Amino acid sequence: MKRESIYKRYIPKFQQVIANDDNTYWFIFNSDKLLVKTIDNNEVAIPTAISVEELNIPFTSIHYMGTLNEHNCYAVNTSSIELQDNSMSFKPLKSLYDYLDEDIFLLSGKALQIIKWDETHKYCGRCGSLTDTMEGEYGKVCPKCGFISYPRISPAVITAVIKDGQILMAHNKSFPGNRHSIIAGFVEPGETLEECVRREISEEVGIKVKNIKYFSSQPWPFPNSLMVGFVAEYESGEICVDGKEITKAGWFKELDTIELPSKMSIAREIIDWYREKYCSK
Ligand SMILES: [Zn+2]
Repeated sequence: MKRESIYKRYIPKFQQVIANDDNTYWFIFNSDKLLVKTIDNNEVAIPTAISVEELNIPFTSIHYMGTLNEHNCYAVNTSSIELQDNSMSFKPLKSLYDYLDEDIFLLSGKALQIIKWDETHKYCGRCGSLTDTMEGEYGKVCPKCGFISYPRISPAVITAVIKDGQILMAHNKSFPGNRHSIIAGFVEPGETLEECVRREISEEVGIKVKNIKYFSSQPWPFPNSLMVGFVAEYESGEICVDGKEITKAGWFKELDTIELPSKMSIAREIIDWYREKYCSK
């Protein structure tokens, strides 16, 4: 089952139309840490309040993001870590993806990227002048030389390779424990997505693939990727790991001997699709 788009519930806007209410969402970041309150059973939520002042958090910038289920959403940057309410704490966003509501996690990623873009584009990358924020789009324009900069989005591909009903799973040296996933990598300048799929798989595990088909995509804000998912068929070659990024790889049918990626990742969405299609019989 592919995920339903958040855009059925979320309407992006630059200008606020409706007034704030008590359920206004505040995505408050200190560096890459999101302000959350613990509910129970390991569940966390972001604070809701009519205004950021009510939360007693001094902020350095605030960005309107539109509405989620008809409540306003704001991204807020703070350098303060002093909290008066001890049910709240700042947690790295990456550590929260199994605990936050999926829509809130996705919008937290958007909020983080807007804040980081605002913070890192204060000065023109060409002439060093102070930039102006453009209206109605995420853009910064230099009043001196006219250079415009937009938020950086770095596409990456992630591919399930299938051979005789088995899936290629690999352990990346940065993964914890015995976690395995499918092969991923960043798109290089001048490359199509399909060329990137072929290159990454060839570089990391030494095999060739064919019949590359688009699956779905997922924004991945660590720090600014867009993961584009594919499914491909094995064509030729023997698995030979690069030893630099990938330290183990193999063909799997039963996946219960390895640890899988988080439920919210596109990697897991593709792996679950594979299990449903190939392992239910
Ligand atoms: Zn400039």
